[in-house]
Amino acid sequence: MADQNFRLTGFSSLAIHGGHAQDPRYAHLTPIYASSTFVYDSAEQGMRRFSGQEDGYIYTRWGNPTMDEAADKIAAMESFGITDGGGSPLIVKGYLQASGMAAISALFMSTLKTGDKILSHYSLYGGSQEFMDRLLPEFGISAVIADLRDLNKAEDALKADPAIKMIYIETPANPTLQCVDIEGLTRLGKQYGKLVACDNTFATPYLQQPFRFGVDFIIHSTTKFLNGHGTSIGGVFLGRDIEFMNAWGKKVHRMLGGNSNPFDAFLLVNGMKTLEVRMERHCHNAMEVAGFLNGHAAVAKVNYTGLPDHPDHYVSAKQMRHPGAMLSVELKGGLQAGVNMMDRLQLCTRTVSLGTCDTLMCHPASMTHYSVPKEKREQYGITDGLIRISVGMENIQDIIADMDQALK
Ligand SMILES: *Cc1c(COP(=O)(O)O)cnc(C)c1O
Repeated sequence: MADQNFRLTGFSSLAIHGGHAQDPRYAHLTPIYASSTFVYDSAEQGMRRFSGQEDGYIYTRWGNPTMDEAADKIAAMESFGITDGGGSPLIVKGYLQASGMAAISALFMSTLKTGDKILSHYSLYGGSQEFMDRLLPEFGISAVIADLRDLNKAEDALKADPAIKMIYIETPANPTLQCVDIEGLTRLGKQYGKLVACDNTFATPYLQQPFRFGVDFIIHSTTKFLNGHGTSIGGVFLGRDIEFMNAWGKKVHRMLGGNSNPFDAFLLVNGMKTLEVRMERHCHNAMEVAGFLNGHAAVAKVNYTGLPDHPDHYVSAKQMRHPGAMLSVELKGGLQAGVNMMDRLQLCTRTVSLGTCDTLMCHPASMTHYSVPKEKREQYGITDGLIRISVGMENIQDIIADMDQALK
């Protein structure tokens, strides 16, 4: 365990030691505190705990040591090396959630009210899009969708609609890998007095730190690269306004009841320790796969921001350490070519989701978006021959050999 006074200067050192406190019984690894409640020595202590005079756990929906360690580790990684306005290290606060969607719920429910609007980009995770399309309107909140890759369009939307309360971005976005300019949009947000929130799931804090550009909130689906092994669903809701996070943010999180649980938090804590080495390998392999598929006879187009001809290459290079491990390809043969490729895979895994050690491939037109009408799918950039790939950590020659034989 790193001494409290030891200054951690590297990302992996932080990912391994950050957020950890010595266990009172000297367990080396973080124990799974599988207990719904916590006890008091006396009625007086109970009183002090409930009134907030004394720190201490009360009830797991309100907080739990295993869950707090995971949330504190993510908060430490998201603020690593960033200073606040006054030159001191930035401190941010996070609450561990049952899923990425629970994190989005905590964000929206704690910041928006009837009459407010959200400004967002048209390429977003399907669940986030559905939340904005179907659930928020039930509460009198609506979404303004614009092409936020164009800062002029973003500014026009902000000027046209003073009811916009928050700019909500996801970059790189699922499944098109489009990137938006975090710095530029945050600058506009500040200029027009709007909150800015970012879904940082695809990048992880190792590749991209939105707080560095001044965003107010970050959410993650920890299910993906943060966990890294596909062992549990989870999320986190992080904010830089500590006063808000310790008061209303915490209150709403507790009222919604979307908390994680000790076992999933334990899996997450251990998964995150290897984030840097995993992301380095994932990204290296992704670049190789993109190079192999780019120019392959069966491939019409590769969507990977690491390729210089991708329209978001510059913005991704500006704000990300590497272009990430997600890419998509459009096959020349359309729907049937997509189905054929999926059927022929021998190593890569046919499944949805992303961010695990093995390479995962999905064909949205025959899988996730099978029931979405073709015209609607295509509006979101999901064409018949689109294959999405979460490039894994296998040895690169094996990944490429499998893709090569599957495309024959
Ligand atoms: C998976 C995902 C989510 C939703 O997370 P869950 O953990 O499945 O609830 C949100 N945003 C992005 C970008 C995702 O990939």
